[in-house]
Amino acid sequence: MFPTATQSNTNSTKTGSGPATAEPGYSHPLGAASVQTHTSFAAAPTSNGTELSLIIPICNEVDTIDSLHEQLTAALAAIGRPYEIIYIDDGSNDGSYEKLERIWQKDHTVRVIKFARNFGKTAAMSAALDSARGEIMIPMDADLQNDPKDIVRLLDKLEEGYDVVSGWRKKRYDELFLRLIPSWIANRLISTMTGVHLRDYGCCLKAYRRAVIQDVKLYGEMHRFVPIYASWHGARVTEIPVIHHPRRFGKSKYGISRTTKVLLDLITVTFMSNYLTKPIYVFGTAGLGSLGLSFASFVWMIFIRYAYNTHFTDTPMPVLTAMFFMIGIQFILMGLLAELLMRTYHESQGKRTYVINRMLENESGAAESAQINFTP
Ligand code: UDP
Ligand code: MG
Repeated sequence: MFPTATQSNTNSTKTGSGPATAEPGYSHPLGAASVQTHTSFAAAPTSNGTELSLIIPICNEVDTIDSLHEQLTAALAAIGRPYEIIYIDDGSNDGSYEKLERIWQKDHTVRVIKFARNFGKTAAMSAALDSARGEIMIPMDADLQNDPKDIVRLLDKLEEGYDVVSGWRKKRYDELFLRLIPSWIANRLISTMTGVHLRDYGCCLKAYRRAVIQDVKLYGEMHRFVPIYASWHGARVTEIPVIHHPRRFGKSKYGISRTTKVLLDLITVTFMSNYLTKPIYVFGTAGLGSLGLSFASFVWMIFIRYAYNTHFTDTPMPVLTAMFFMIGIQFILMGLLAELLMRTYHESQGKRTYVINRMLENESGAAESAQINFTP
């Protein structure tokens, strides 16, 4: 089992060489993420004792904001741990920001980030994560489809020793054909391709320990892949059913087009996770396959020419031979370019290609015993 935050604090030992310093971390595909070595999953110190950071992206949700804030503060007061609520106004034009400003004036636990224009939910979450101070990050939608009462359940589960607890909208109130079916397919696909088995990646309501999320850079629609990223780094990830309500106010900002984006993000994540340090394996395999096909068509072309007296121009074989040959060469050249890019990416920023889980050394600096995970 990977150490949880507290365990890792006590277990990360590096004697004889002073305190463990923050070193350049393993660069991860989900962005230029880096996980600090030696202190993996140890929460970074926060400035003001804030324990929980609620992260709420808002795009034109003026009608729910008051009720959301009321329900949220009631739920958080009942939990009784120091918290902050970060609202991100993602380019609203319906007066949401003005409402948030009024709430901020009255409530010192509230922080508001106003985007200059709409950058999307993933960017909004990213901005909030960058400035959040809590030990535990809890993103949640603003439309009250998630229920703030579930926060305590997420936290209870986290206390059992997990690093990520993800909400599962077991009974979900969304449109069947445009939302539920594509989402069901997407969830199955993500689960199969990534090997991290959750039933609902898209549910925004989750709880993360700070250390597993603090350096993640999010692009596209990638916030849903964060539990996967964390799991690949040894975090303990689990899922609990959460309440889901129909949307009472405003409209959903997404339609069927999101499915394509999620699919493309999934391809990126899978590619990056498996081949970030060896892209030529993907391009090269495709290239060699194509050259093989080119050779096969060439042989077939010669064979039918002499065995059946079929003239070269009477078959598509010459064209196929040339086409597969050129595609093959292109793939291999692209692979070489990708290798150059990969080296630039790692070496220019001093990024490592592995994650060290723990290192035990004796006084002389020689490794006495080590439990080290090398991530390819
Ligand atoms: N949202 C956002 N920026 C966007 C789109 C959505 O901040 O460009 C916010 C939105 O205000 C809500 C959350 O993201 O708080 C989820 O959006 P929505 O409810 O439309 O998504 P759905 O629940 O339909 O998947
Ligand atoms: Mg919603």
